[in-house]
Amino acid sequence: MKIKFWQKGSSRGVKLPHNKFTAKNAIETLPLPEKVIIPLHQNIGAPCVACVKRGEKVLTGQKIGDSDKFVNAPVHASISGTISTITTIINPPTGQPVTALVISSDREDSWVELNTTKNPKALSAREILGKIREAGIVGLGGATFPTHVKLSPPEDKKIDTIILNGCECEPYITADHRVMLEYGEKVLSGLNLISQILSPKNVYIGIEDNKADAITHLRELIAAKGYANSFEVVTLKSQYPMGAEKTLITNILHREVPIGGLPMDVGVVVQNVHTAVAIHNAVYEGRPFVERLVTVTGAVNNPKNLLVRLGTPLRTLIDYCGGLKKEAGEIILGGPMMGISQPDLDFPVTKGTSCILVTAGNPIREMDCINCGRCVEVCPMHLMPTRLAKNAKVGRYENCQEAYIDDCFECGSCAYSCPANIPIVQYIKVAKKELAKRRVAK
Ligand code: SF4
Ligand code: SF4
Repeated sequence: MKIKFWQKGSSRGVKLPHNKFTAKNAIETLPLPEKVIIPLHQNIGAPCVACVKRGEKVLTGQKIGDSDKFVNAPVHASISGTISTITTIINPPTGQPVTALVISSDREDSWVELNTTKNPKALSAREILGKIREAGIVGLGGATFPTHVKLSPPEDKKIDTIILNGCECEPYITADHRVMLEYGEKVLSGLNLISQILSPKNVYIGIEDNKADAITHLRELIAAKGYANSFEVVTLKSQYPMGAEKTLITNILHREVPIGGLPMDVGVVVQNVHTAVAIHNAVYEGRPFVERLVTVTGAVNNPKNLLVRLGTPLRTLIDYCGGLKKEAGEIILGGPMMGISQPDLDFPVTKGTSCILVTAGNPIREMDCINCGRCVEVCPMHLMPTRLAKNAKVGRYENCQEAYIDDCFECGSCAYSCPANIPIVQYIKVAKKELAKRRVAK
């Protein structure tokens, strides 16, 4: 088996224990919840505005929030029932209040009429993009950038390569792994649709070498379907953060995305494997994006990979997994490296929720920096995390700007390596938020 290694700075990034305890757990469908809570802002970009009122009856798949902004993805009812409340909750990724619609179930799961497509190959790129947009699809690796926007690069950016990201490099999470094993045909079908939009010369599926069964399965499917001349599965070393877009591009194509740039600046679009499945469902079956795979793992009694309706409270998933263990500590949305601590179990699963990780034990105590330089050695973006953290801590945000803070993609490698337990990424997030506020105020 040919394995691609890091092409530049092999010491960058970190070797982590994988802890993929749920890798062999087949997907289970969580029973329909009694209620769902649908935040109106679940994507990078503009929030939605509600297009239903309190007391209104809704069908599963019915659009309940939308926006006239380009960088937005509409939201849909994930169960049928009645809009019982319109409330405000705190959105963990942003820490900002967000309006949310609560739907009380009628237990019937009555769907809107689905607009299926008999011959998707006859659709134009514009028609496919329209279906992706209307289905409310966003990047499901956690980025939540609206997919129709990412697949609409400006005319001066010529895309010659698509990379489908099946790395899932964060420890513990196994949702994408199960997607590749159990929904392989839909992954390839979605990838075909992405190719139909962008007409690339090369299409790669990047998978880390700790998922040998998924690599074999997709290679066999590709051969059986006669796609061997179109798609290539690339085996990548399991080294965090291999699944970060820029790292993936460097390792597969040996191209460097410029500082402050995007993959399209080097002719590449990266999409996640779960997103490809959502694209298939939207185009072939006319299904809006109302459910996703979530790994529930860590200090819960029966860790699982669950297919969950969006808006289901976290507590419902944890109860289904046998409840919290005695030693349970923090609840993290996402993996241990990039995930966000969530104190409220009534918060819902949203489009970006790939994992609920329950840590064991008490949070660790921050100490003073000992200038060891480990954070600098591991940063895949060649930044100086210690400088960013020190300046952010005392509010010297302009110094963070000079130290290229915008190039930090919050992978957490620095904080993981820090012997002083400094929450470097949290400081960086605060600085980014303050700098963004200043930009808006100007
Ligand atoms: S500074 Fe940012 S990109 Fe660099 S290691 Fe830390 S979190 Fe990752
Ligand atoms: S790893 Fe931690 S202690 Fe070492 S230089 Fe970076 S911030 Fe300081």
